[in-house]
Amino acid sequence: TPRTTSEHVSLAEQWVARNYSPLEVVIAHAEGAWVTDVEGRRYLDALAGYSALNFGHLNPTLVAAARAQLDRLTLTSRAFHSDRLGPFCRDLATLAGKDLVLPMNTGAEAVETAIKVSRRWGYEVKGVPDGRARIVVMAGNFHGRTTTIVSFSDDPIAHDHYGPYTPGFDTVPFGDLEALEAAITDETVAVLLEPIQGEGGVIIPPDGWLREVRELTRRRGVLMVADEIQSGLGRTGTTFACDLEGVVPDIYVLGKALGGGIVPVSAVVANRDVLGVFTPGSHGSTFGGNPLAAAIGQAVVELLSTGEFQARARRLGAVLESGLRELVGHGVEAVRCRGLWAGVDIRPDLMTGHEASHRLLEQGVLVKDTHGSTIRIAPPLVVTEVEIGILLDALRAVLH
Ligand code: PLP
Repeated sequence: TPRTTSEHVSLAEQWVARNYSPLEVVIAHAEGAWVTDVEGRRYLDALAGYSALNFGHLNPTLVAAARAQLDRLTLTSRAFHSDRLGPFCRDLATLAGKDLVLPMNTGAEAVETAIKVSRRWGYEVKGVPDGRARIVVMAGNFHGRTTTIVSFSDDPIAHDHYGPYTPGFDTVPFGDLEALEAAITDETVAVLLEPIQGEGGVIIPPDGWLREVRELTRRRGVLMVADEIQSGLGRTGTTFACDLEGVVPDIYVLGKALGGGIVPVSAVVANRDVLGVFTPGSHGSTFGGNPLAAAIGQAVVELLSTGEFQARARRLGAVLESGLRELVGHGVEAVRCRGLWAGVDIRPDLMTGHEASHRLLEQGVLVKDTHGSTIRIAPPLVVTEVEIGILLDALRAVLH
């Protein structure tokens, strides 16, 4: 059995497919905003499982909900009802102000579900001729890894050599209303967007753009689909990033933090006039909405229902933002912040984002680069002001 970091890394390099290049840290335990590696070193987690760990590692409330459910019932399949699914979907629909929830597992599956529901809505409600539906997507998007989703990715590393590609998508620049308006035709059924592009580097669209997209899609009879898998559930200081502009999309796509960092839980949330186009047998998932997932998901929704985490993300996000702004001109070119979520562009001649992540690791802080010289900072929302200070000190040390 491997014991040291290098023994674990060698074993993984021998047996695990190389579709990731993890930093050289082997995590064995975690609690709250901190992880401990196999050699007993502690690190502040400023990635939070790409925002799947918004409520922290081993959040006691969520672990208790999972434990209690593990002793009762874990899986029924949707062939039968469980006593957990109704309560979860009621509470999630209520949180989102919508009628219905369609539970899935991973983010990509939920995006696929949103694409399917949009097309079906297009054919059955809007009256688009069968097989002609088009969906407008944004340049720089990241929505997951399925063959259909990578078909409309413009990131070569995610996209190339996976063809033949799924047709029916039109790409416009993120934040460009005129281009979006020009791309919409009678056959357009949906506009799919991330309100803030996470993998793209925490890219925030121009003020007012989301509101204009909402107005445009409503006027043109096109569904507005917000992929809030990374941006949603408290990260931006609001329940949804769309709330920052007071926008309510037709469809919310949720995932990551919905499973409390314990199990994969995703969902499509919309009103009956949209999700109602699914009929028995027309879509499904063996594990989607399973009792364990539903118990944890309902506990997540309850954590969000008080607004406490959102307020915390706003308050501490302001601390993070002001600390990061002080670094602009001192090794940092630009920062983009919303709540406890920041994209930090390091001066490219200083180091790549990959190098920055390595150096932060040496300083005891875990982050990951997104693209080029950009790193994303997204600590669990349970992080404290002192811990944000630790993070900023580490970043300062790395830049000097
Ligand atoms: N959509 C967005 C905005 C994401 O950030 C991600 C994951 O990073 C996904 C979809 C895909 O989620 P999953 O990896 O659970 O399939």
